[in-house]
Amino acid sequence: VDFLQSLPKAELHAHLNGCIPLQTLTDLTEHLTLPADTTDEIAATVARLKSGLTLNDVSEFFPLFSAIYAITSTPSALGRVTRDVLDSFLKAESNPPPGFAYTPAPECSYLELRTTPRATAQMSRYTYLTTVLDEIEKFSADQAALIVSIDRRMSDADARECVDLAIALRAAGRRVVGLDLCGDPGKGDIATFEKHFKRGKDAGLGLTLHIAEVCGNTTAESLALLDWRPDRLGHATFLSDEHKALFFADLLQPGSVPSPATESNSRRNGAYKPCIEICLSSNLLSRTVQSLESHHIQYYLANDHPISICTDDTLPFRTTLLAEYAQLLAKPPLGLGLGREQVKRIAAMGMEARFVQGRVEVK
Ligand code: 5GP
Repeated sequence: VDFLQSLPKAELHAHLNGCIPLQTLTDLTEHLTLPADTTDEIAATVARLKSGLTLNDVSEFFPLFSAIYAITSTPSALGRVTRDVLDSFLKAESNPPPGFAYTPAPECSYLELRTTPRATAQMSRYTYLTTVLDEIEKFSADQAALIVSIDRRMSDADARECVDLAIALRAAGRRVVGLDLCGDPGKGDIATFEKHFKRGKDAGLGLTLHIAEVCGNTTAESLALLDWRPDRLGHATFLSDEHKALFFADLLQPGSVPSPATESNSRRNGAYKPCIEICLSSNLLSRTVQSLESHHIQYYLANDHPISICTDDTLPFRTTLLAEYAQLLAKPPLGLGLGREQVKRIAAMGMEARFVQGRVEVK
C-alpha cells in the first residue's frame, strides 16, 4: 500500500454521477424531497448499490443512472456531490477503517472528472457546468479539471449546446480541458457528433471517446471514431488486434501503404498512440471481460502502448483507484502479477496523458 500510495497517479476516467460516495447518496436520499413518481425506483437502486451491485451484464448498468439523476438534479445537491467526489479522490480519508496499518493518503494526485451537463427543472446546462466547475476550481490546476461528456443519446442540438458551453467556458478561463463521448454504447448514431467534437478539438480541448466497449459496437463505428483522432480511448475492449495494428502502427514505416481511413494520418510524422483508459473492475463486473488473463490490458502491456489505470464508476463497482492499482501488483488470478517498476511506469503514463495543459498533441 505504501508503494502504491507514494506513486504520483492520475485518475483520467471517472464519471461524476458514477463516483458518488455511498454515504453521500444515502444522506441525500434521506434529506431531499424527491419527485414522488421516482422514489420507489431510487429506493430500489440505492438498496442495490448498498448491498453490493451484481450485474448480469452491461445492459443492466446504464438504467441505474436514471435513479441517481433524480437525486442530483438541483444545484445544491450537485454541488454537494461534486465536493464529496473531489474529496474522495484528492483528500486523505478522514476516518480510515480501524485496524488498517497505513497512513491515509489521497487516492490520486490529479483528477480529470467527467460529467454530462444536464438541464433539469431546477438548472440549465450552464448552471450545471458552473456548479461543478466552482467545486473543481477550489483545487489547484495541477490537481483537478473537468471533461464535458456528450451522451450518445443526445440530439444534435443538445450536443451542440454542450460543446458550445465547453468551448465558451474554456475561453472564459474556466477549467474545462476535454470532451468525452459516453453513454449506453448500444444507443445513438455517432455521425451526429463528429462536427461537434471537431469544433472542440479545434478550440483546444482534448478528446477522449468510449469506443468498442461492447461486442455489439461495429467495426465501422470504431474506425469512424478513430478517424476523429482522439487523444485517449475509453475501454477499447473489443477493438480487434487487426484494427489496433492498423491504427497504432508506425504510419511512416518504409513501404507501408495507408488505407483510406488512415490516409489523413499518413501525413503525420510518426505513430498514432492514443492512451487507453483501462478500467479493470468495471469491465469484469459489467462482464464485458471474463478474466484479468483475457483482459485487453495484456495486449497494450505486451505492445508497450500508453495506458492509464482508472476507476470509471467507483459507486456501482465499489472500487478505488488504489484498489485498481493493487490489481496490477497482486499475483494471478487475483491480479496481473506485475513488478513495481512496471507499475511505476504505468502510473507515469497516466500522468503523461493528462489534458491539463490543453489538448495533448498526437505525435
Ligand atoms: P455523469 O456524466 O452523469 O456524471 O455520469 C454518469 C453517466 O456517465 C452515465 O449516464 C453514462 O452516460 C456515463 N457512463 C458511466 N459509466 C460509463 C461506462 O462505463 N461506459 C459508458 N459508455 N458510459 C458511462
